[in-house]
Amino acid sequence: MTTPIFRFAPSPNGPLHLGHALSALWNQRLAEEAGGQCLLRIEDIDQVRCRPEFIAAAMDDLHWLGFRRQEPVLRQSTRFACYRAVVDQLQARGLLYPCFCTRSQLSINSDNRPKDPDGVPLYDQRCKSLTKDAQTQRIAAGEPYALRLDMKKALAEVAGADLSFEDAKTDGTSHRSIADPAIWGDVVVARKNIGTCYHLSVVIDDAFQGVTDIVRGMDLYRSTDIHVLLQRLLGLPTPRYVHHPLMLDASGEKLSKSRGSSGLADLRRQGKTAAGIRAQLGF
Ligand code: GLU
Repeated sequence: MTTPIFRFAPSPNGPLHLGHALSALWNQRLAEEAGGQCLLRIEDIDQVRCRPEFIAAAMDDLHWLGFRRQEPVLRQSTRFACYRAVVDQLQARGLLYPCFCTRSQLSINSDNRPKDPDGVPLYDQRCKSLTKDAQTQRIAAGEPYALRLDMKKALAEVAGADLSFEDAKTDGTSHRSIADPAIWGDVVVARKNIGTCYHLSVVIDDAFQGVTDIVRGMDLYRSTDIHVLLQRLLGLPTPRYVHHPLMLDASGEKLSKSRGSSGLADLRRQGKTAAGIRAQLGF
């Protein structure tokens, strides 16, 4: 039997908060229960928002919390060449198209369009009809562009394939769910100026690191729809997924850095102990 491999994969674009601690602790507990290993992966593809000081602080906070990780720590910013190779492969298969739309173009008539699970209006596919010549000219002129997945073509490629995944709870119960990627529309797989996106990098690295069990917050549940599709398109295995309930703040909202939810470092400065935080989170 192979050793189960888990990973905690924060994006260091701000200080870690209690929600991150909850995810890290669930990963650690479920890895221990399964006799597995728990990796730490730093998801720093967005080189503008992710800063070295946040990475150092995250390592420090996790150490303080008692999160025991397996070495080495993988940083996604060292993996751009791998992501590029996969993007090239998908592009060569005709599954991607360049999208030059600006933020304001994306919002035109957006109220009338169905929304994706993140509440973002589905892309109206205006760049999909550009001719090859128009695409080439605009790229040559240096216009920034994202690459979008042609969802219709992608679904046609995986027609008949098994899009199910093991959908487990923290108590160990599980059932099989079927991914429904169509609800995301023509999703971006390579962001402007970044050349990849969260979904693509995460799927590539989970396979690269042999991850067998993904434990993350319920807020990422619907991302699994895209992840399973990408796994089928790329011939990668589908791990087992556990989405744990989120920590909510006093007003019932999901904790987030932007709403100023308590960072672990702040709580530590206020005199909270790691044992106290673990107990607060049920560990
Ligand atoms: N990096 C993602 C985040 O911080 C989590 C990735 C994942 O667990 O799939 O939200």
